[in-house]
Amino acid sequence: MQVTRELFDDVMVPNYAPSKVIPVKGEGSRVWDQEGKEFIDFAGGIAVNCLGHCHPALVQALTEQGSKLWHLSNVMTNEPALRLAKKLTDATFAEKVYFANSGGEANEAALKLARRWAIDNYGDHKTQIISFKKSFHGRTFFTVTVGGQAAYSDGFGPKPGDVVHAEFNDLASLEKLISDNTCAVMIEPLQGEGGIVPADHDFMQGVRTLCDKHKALLIFDEVQTGIGRTGNLYAYQGLDVIPDILTSAKALGGGFPIGAMLTTTDIAKHLKVGTHGSTYGGNPLACAVAEAAVDIINTPETLKGVLEKEQLFIAGLDAINDKYQVFCEIRGKGLLLGAVLNQTYQGRSREFLNASAEHGLMSLVAGIDVVRFAPSLIISEQEIKQGLQRFEKAVAQVVSA
Ligand SMILES: *Cc1c(COP(=O)(O)O)cnc(C)c1O
Repeated sequence: MQVTRELFDDVMVPNYAPSKVIPVKGEGSRVWDQEGKEFIDFAGGIAVNCLGHCHPALVQALTEQGSKLWHLSNVMTNEPALRLAKKLTDATFAEKVYFANSGGEANEAALKLARRWAIDNYGDHKTQIISFKKSFHGRTFFTVTVGGQAAYSDGFGPKPGDVVHAEFNDLASLEKLISDNTCAVMIEPLQGEGGIVPADHDFMQGVRTLCDKHKALLIFDEVQTGIGRTGNLYAYQGLDVIPDILTSAKALGGGFPIGAMLTTTDIAKHLKVGTHGSTYGGNPLACAVAEAAVDIINTPETLKGVLEKEQLFIAGLDAINDKYQVFCEIRGKGLLLGAVLNQTYQGRSREFLNASAEHGLMSLVAGIDVVRFAPSLIISEQEIKQGLQRFEKAVAQVVSA
């Protein structure tokens, strides 16, 4: 069967608008399409491919587990899930793990747990959930309602209730909403989809203090920032703030779908037998691959490398900007970076993405004003340089258009 981009329009639900390019092979930070055209990958499948494409250790974990045991369901536990949970709890504040298959599902579990915790401990009035404008927490109806973009949650009928939104990086705005009826505050330590906006240090401290004062749980959505992306295994570890619940997905499986919710024993106990679940959550294939990914990412070499590569990216983007004056700011942390378009180029991030693709570079946007980069955490110095050369050509093309 001949597979073409037209086939997408014939057979797929039209909720996506994928590029014309159909990649067929990837290796490290390079990808090739049906025509054999090569791309350098600064997109990482939206901050997922933390070890690039087809990393030998992940391929080995997948194929080894793939010839042993694929699936059991949670009627039985399995070795890879328990090993991965042990490694995640050893490496973080958490003592307990719940496995899901995606970020949205991990967040759904976090929100349901927070509601159970609050109702069990304090009564039926304590159900309010506060998140932040422009935040993104997934596409299930609960998580999209908690997310801070009404455009994503409108039009589906009545929404889950008692959810409100404060301004990000504005403690007074949170202070106005929070009360003893607040059950949880959910936040990305660095807003990803919302435009690569890091939380200020003082703001984050203030959020923790307000949560403590009102006995509300602090939930860190680290679906995009987790697994080494910002130079720590999790971003909270660089912020002097410890959440009560943390969610992880995207890079956790290095490209194999998996999500996880991490928390303490005292909070976890409110998800008693039968209160929540998932058929695939914690399945042996996903957990075996994630364990191999965590083993490589959670090492001083890999994490230090992320910060070194960040410097290369920032220097390279600054040099391009000196020549073409397209950005007003490069922001983000580690290898989750956003080049913010200045006044002249506002609203045109997609043109930069499309031009990049023409010149053999896969990049991302984060809204209409930010070009986003989320490459492999082990991308080579040479690939960064080569990718930035391609990006410079793309910038030159947009500027001269
Ligand atoms: C991508 C993302 C999600 C949703 O993850 P899915 O795996 O698509 O469900 C949730 N939160 C954040 C911060 C994300 O970046």
